Amino acid sequence: MGTTIRATCPTCGDVELGVADLTALLCSTTQAASYSFRCPRCRMLVAKPTGRQVVDVLVSSGVELRYWRLPAELGEVHHGPPLAPADVISLRAELTRDDWYQRLVSAGSGESI
Ligand SMILES: [Zn+2]
Repeated sequence: MGTTIRATCPTCGDVELGVADLTALLCSTTQAASYSFRCPRCRMLVAKPTGRQVVDVLVSSGVELRYWRLPAELGEVHHGPPLAPADVISLRAELTRDDWYQRLVSAGSGESI
């Protein structure tokens, strides 16, 4: 017999969960706290933002804590226009060549090939 945690599914309303049914989540990039669980009634995965204190309480009750981070790509600086359908067609044609890799490398930093 363990701790029962009450959570709210957007579809089913209040549901009761055991500590093994939830995961507490902390983002290492933003320190944002959240938790997730699979609803025992409709099986939908529910994720909700919460406060750090709630995560601490959940973890001290035995809920598993997982850290995650935002993808590094979010911090990248991009130059040039976004990829257009014509670029994809050009790239596809380029990739049929045997020397596509050498051509791509010698094309340098984002210039057209
Ligand atoms: Zn549900």
